[in-house]
Amino acid sequence: MHSVTNNTATIFTAADELPRLLVIDDDCFFQAQIKLYVVNRYAVTQSLSAMPMDALSLIRADTILLDLNMPGVDGVSLIKTIASLNPKPKLLIASSYDNSIIELARSAAQLYGLTQTVVLQKPVSKDQLLQALAELEFRGSNHLPLPCATDNISQADIIKASHAGEFLLFYQPQISLESDDIVGIEALVRWDHPQFGRLTPAFFIHLIEDSADAIEFTLMVAEMAIRDTLRISREQGFRGNVSVNIPPIVLMSETFTDRLCDMLSLHGLSPERFQCEITERGLDSPGPQASATLARLRMKGIQLSIDDFGVGQSGLSKIKTGAFDEIKIDRSFISDLTCSLDSQSIVKSIIHLASLVNLRVVAEGIEDNPTLMLCKQLGVANAQGFYCARPMPAEEFCSWLRARPDNQQPGSLLSFRTGF
Ligand code: C2E
Ligand code: MG
Ligand code: MG
Repeated sequence: MHSVTNNTATIFTAADELPRLLVIDDDCFFQAQIKLYVVNRYAVTQSLSAMPMDALSLIRADTILLDLNMPGVDGVSLIKTIASLNPKPKLLIASSYDNSIIELARSAAQLYGLTQTVVLQKPVSKDQLLQALAELEFRGSNHLPLPCATDNISQADIIKASHAGEFLLFYQPQISLESDDIVGIEALVRWDHPQFGRLTPAFFIHLIEDSADAIEFTLMVAEMAIRDTLRISREQGFRGNVSVNIPPIVLMSETFTDRLCDMLSLHGLSPERFQCEITERGLDSPGPQASATLARLRMKGIQLSIDDFGVGQSGLSKIKTGAFDEIKIDRSFISDLTCSLDSQSIVKSIIHLASLVNLRVVAEGIEDNPTLMLCKQLGVANAQGFYCARPMPAEEFCSWLRARPDNQQPGSLLSFRTGF
């Protein structure tokens, strides 16, 4: 460890080989906490006050965690300084200002060109911080490094791991806000990495999502999801759908639909119970083959859902085609729903629009009861989020289903909360 001193801050730098996280915050306690949370993942550099451009350039941070409210400092002007760095770092704004101000700061950062910006409201837990950092890496994954030794993971490692059976699926339930029934589950991949432990997709999915290997990977996930769904159905009488995330490149495959349908018929799961989730971003300019795949999937009875709706560009034109059954409103509009009138207006508009073209609306990322209740009040059909249940392995999902009270009253959604 070595230290550098300039006129505004004392800087402590450690472990040069790790990605560099610069924390600019006047709160010593917060600084110490952050350092503990990311130990062995980031080399943390700390500054108790704003820094001039030349000091910032010297540190060459991969990610900057910025407090907006420091004595005598205008946080937004600091964002402008950060945006003029080359290369631009990723930005994590953590502040105790209310959500609307934090969101404005996020918009400003993005308009200044800091496209990889996420925000957190203080106080910040370890889980929240790590999730936000993982999200930053996930969004910026086209060209930026991952936050720890998982940097060295390659596409070839993923292929090898799929042959070695190191991937497994977690399932997160979707709950009807009208009937309280579990109407579906989303399959979310996890990698039991022999060296790094259990990894979420943020650590690896980008390495495969844009490559031709995505087709085999997706079919592997689909087969695991089909088997698990049949098992859950057999053991627990589950009758809902299973959703699998489909990277856009898979839609370019001429054989994907037939192979998926063969798999469904071989295992005996009705196509109506299988749903493909395609991100709105992936639908920006689908081209003839992707459109043909969507049409064929639909003709076979497979359900289609637009994932992360509202953050891409193409949603409106896509819902007009009538190809889709469902839209999932992006978590960014749900996370601040109870405190942001803007998010409420956007969600209301999406629901209104969806009702006109007969699309089911799912809200993802519901983390508390007030948000759940507001979603219900606004007319969201189905809810998905940590408040209802976190993603869990198939076996735990079976136990979770068993533990659910049979006679749940609509609106009594408090009892959905799980302990993990
Ligand atoms: P997604 O499809 O939008 O999935 C929802 C993500 O939000 C999941 O993250 C889930 O754990 C998380 N989530 C659910 N409820 C909440 C909540 O209340 N609060 C917060 N903060 N997060 C919540 P996960 O499992 O890490 O997956 C991230 C993304 O990785 C997925 O986003 C999807 O785009 C991708 N992904 C996951 N599994 C697969 C897969 O099998 N294939 C492909 N191609 N992509 C996958
Ligand atoms: Mg999804
Ligand atoms: Mg989503």
